[in-house]
Amino acid sequence: MEATATGGRAIEAWSLFADDATYFLNDNYDSFHNLIESLTLYGMISGLKLNKSKCTVLRGVCEENGGIQLTNIDSFVKAIKCSWVKRYLDNTNTSKWKLFYQKILKKYGDSLLFECNISNTILHEIANIFLSDVLSAWSDVTHKLETKTSSKTILWNNKDITSNNKTFFYKDWFERSIKYVDQLYEFRIKDFYSFDDICYIYGIPSNNFLNYYTLIKSIPIHIKSEINTNNAPCTQTKFVENILGRKNKTNKILYTLQIKNPTENSKIQNKWQVLFGENELNWKHIFTMPYKATVESTLRNFQYKYFHIIIATNKYLFKCKLSNSNLCDFCSENIETIEHLFWECKHIQPIWNQLASFLEQQQLNVKLSFLNITNL
Ligand SMILES: [Zn+2]
Repeated sequence: MEATATGGRAIEAWSLFADDATYFLNDNYDSFHNLIESLTLYGMISGLKLNKSKCTVLRGVCEENGGIQLTNIDSFVKAIKCSWVKRYLDNTNTSKWKLFYQKILKKYGDSLLFECNISNTILHEIANIFLSDVLSAWSDVTHKLETKTSSKTILWNNKDITSNNKTFFYKDWFERSIKYVDQLYEFRIKDFYSFDDICYIYGIPSNNFLNYYTLIKSIPIHIKSEINTNNAPCTQTKFVENILGRKNKTNKILYTLQIKNPTENSKIQNKWQVLFGENELNWKHIFTMPYKATVESTLRNFQYKYFHIIIATNKYLFKCKLSNSNLCDFCSENIETIEHLFWECKHIQPIWNQLASFLEQQQLNVKLSFLNITNL
């Protein structure tokens, strides 16, 4: 965490030695040195220690796709969320907090859910925001990496197998080791087992006919035909095992895996696009500009925060209950958004006007607008 400043106002976010903390540093030695010193001092006072073997450094390089290889700040955040899953699934970890989440996930087969093709319905159903957020990141990341050809499709919580928009999870079937679609499939006759066969093979009670019928009826044809054509093991499950098998540095792996894949526009880029409507934004230009325009790391840092909309405006601070008002500090008339604070505000406009007349004096014909101060 770092102290963020806007318009001379500083918000000290020097939180405690959190269990997990992410620090964004300037690209100079001092910045790193100061952090280590502060952490060491804090450690001396509190008696806590920094576990260096658990730390990951992701070095930001001047990059065309977002300043510090983080168009990609999305990917980074997702990686952190995903590494929580590893801790959750780690059986040697017996922390009490797990019980709380186990209770919520029980309905979906607990840790089974992390192997599933999770539907939005489930994400909405899970009222715990943190958990729902983690699951969403997890399914995004794992879905991207998953190759489409897996014959071992998981039956449960699979968004491709639904009835009335609801996915399936029959706890007692799962406990009888039924997990994959192909377990219900009779390869010799190239069709699903009859209900009687299922009862016989898995010991399912005979009053389950309706459950059987609804489930079989809901398995789409493409999944059925995939069973016939492919016998590769389920990649999703393999992926989960792979991640769990790693000793450390999960963050880094999950992050690198994501950025290896071609990236679409990040959430932030889409946000800016909304502001600019039809006007096309040249991201390569926008992201490299701060590095060409200055060598001053404070300015680069500021530009980075600006692009990624992580400047603490009153709109944001008010939402977090860190400010008494969401109105602009300068005019107190409008909501202090990034567009307002850096362009619209009547107290800010004179600065731009001065710049415009300065440019005019220099015979530089640039028409200033909110659009080109960002896209300059
Ligand atoms: Zn204002």
